[in-house]
Amino acid sequence: MHRTHHEEKVLMESKSSNLVLAKCNSCGKLFMPPAYMCSGCGGKELDDVAATGEGNILSYTTIRVPPLGFVDQAPYEIGVIALPEKVNLTARIIAHAGREIRIGDGASFVEKDTTGAYWFKLSN
Ligand SMILES: [Zn+2]
Repeated sequence: MHRTHHEEKVLMESKSSNLVLAKCNSCGKLFMPPAYMCSGCGGKELDDVAATGEGNILSYTTIRVPPLGFVDQAPYEIGVIALPEKVNLTARIIAHAGREIRIGDGASFVEKDTTGAYWFKLSN
């Protein structure tokens, strides 16, 4: 693994912010925004709550042939992150230079970019 210029830029320029989840007022279920209705009980009163921002990698894949518009960013890693809040999300993963990503690795939230993509970096 190596870091691309784009990944270094994200790490340099990201401002510290919270990873925000949606929480159902009726049943307490947590899920990823945007959400307009609870997928558990159908409740429509949802609150924003801050997640810890820590998670573990459930799976990942390396994108070598990216969609148009991301060509300059390849190769890059996309993975599914399992949060302790029992919510999974798909995110770009910034690896450590010189080390492979392993399933189960810890990952920390970096930012949600202007395209709505979540970015995490390996935390250990
Ligand atoms: Zn609910």
